[in-house]
Parts: sequence; C-alpha cells; structure tokens
Amino acid sequence: MRALIAGNWKMNGLRESLAEVAAVAAAAPGIAADLLLCLPATLLPLAPRELPLGAQDCHANASGAHTGDLSAEMLADAGASHIIVGHSERRCDHHETDAAVRAKAAAAHRAALTAIICVGETLAQRDANETLAVVTSQLAGSVPDGATPANTAIAYEPVWAIGTGRTPTPDQVAQVHAAIHDALQTRFGATFRILYGGSVKPDNAATLLALPHVHGALVGGASLKAADFLAIARAA
Ligand code: PGA
Repeated sequence: MRALIAGNWKMNGLRESLAEVAAVAAAAPGIAADLLLCLPATLLPLAPRELPLGAQDCHANASGAHTGDLSAEMLADAGASHIIVGHSERRCDHHETDAAVRAKAAAAHRAALTAIICVGETLAQRDANETLAVVTSQLAGSVPDGATPANTAIAYEPVWAIGTGRTPTPDQVAQVHAAIHDALQTRFGATFRILYGGSVKPDNAATLLALPHVHGALVGGASLKAADFLAIARAA
C-alpha cells in the first residue's frame, strides 16, 4: 500500500506560512508517498491546489445555527479532501466522545471527504496495560458503519507521544497497528490505511514507516517546516 504522509499543522500558520505549503507542493511529484497537509481552515482557500489539503475537525451537521463551527461541506468547498477527526487534543480540550467523533467522520463521508480517525491511549492507560482495550474500544465507537478503505484512514497516536519527543518502541507500535488491522478486518472485511502519529521526525521516520501495518504517518510539529516534512516523506 502506498504510504500517506499527512501533516497536522494544528493551530499554527499565518498567510506567510503558505511558502512552506508551496515548497511541499513543488517537491511532491518526486516523492513516492502520498502527501497531505491538514492546515488551519483559514489557509485552505489560499493554499496551492496541486497539493491535497485537509482540515482538522468539522461539525457533524451540514449547516445551521452553530456559531464558530465549520461543516464538512464548507471545508470541502474551501479545498479540503480530508478531515482529521477525534484527535486527542479535541477529545481532551473539547470533551469529544467516541459517538461525537463517529458523527464527525460520518459528516466527512457525507461531504465525500476522507476521514482520518485518531485513536490512542494515555500514559496511565499504557502503564495499566489497557492500551489494546482502549484503542479497540475507541475504534469500535469512532468508526462509522459507512467507513471504507477509500473514505477512511486510522491514525494511531499514543497521547503521551504527541509533541513530547517520545515514541513507543517499534514492537509496541507494531502490536497496536496489528490489533487495529485485525479489528477492522473483522468488522469490515477490508484493509484500511493505518497511520502512526506522535513525535514522528526525520530521524525516526524510516524505522516507524517500515513496521508491519504502518501505512504512513500523521506528523505534527515536524510538518510545519517543508524540509522536515519532506525528509519524513522521503523515508517512506
Ligand atoms: P507531533 O504531533 O508530531 O508534534 O507529536 C502529532 C499529532 O498530534 O498529530
């Protein structure tokens, strides 16, 4: 399966940062992985069209009285082909439940967008040996019935690895990715793309991306600079 290297800019990026997007777009044709940048919604209509773009959240409804929210249809209209849903920062900061994440993923599908559905355990859950139970339960609750390998990718992001410079061992990553693969195979009879996220950097990307059932990466901090993001993409 061709790797997907997706950047998650989070709440970063002003118009001047579009130069980084342009640099990624210019290099993309020479790279053997699919590239995607999930930008703040403010930049989506301004970014170069040659590069696939994503958003980082959406409302479950298509339109209506929801001040400050953006629907999947609006994000598609602004240029997104993908939407990250259920990132741990939203599950935590905005108290998003599995049911809410599932509704947002279904909204992405309704708008003909690909949902990147995030799951992952906290450090306390890992220490308590609950990682596989937590991840498979989040998966069961967050992935809508209409998911297909064409409209959905999963991102395994251990909460304790995000922005910390720490990553699970290769064995730990491979174990969780295998569990995600098996759960989706059982439920849907299909193989979905499963990305790893959490402190992916140019120097650990090759190791992580070579693991079984790892079909790409969701990259936060290292996606803000084109040179780092491209170095990760070249490792795929
Ligand atoms: P990080 O973030 O690469 O900065 O750890 C990853 C993410 O939260 O998607």
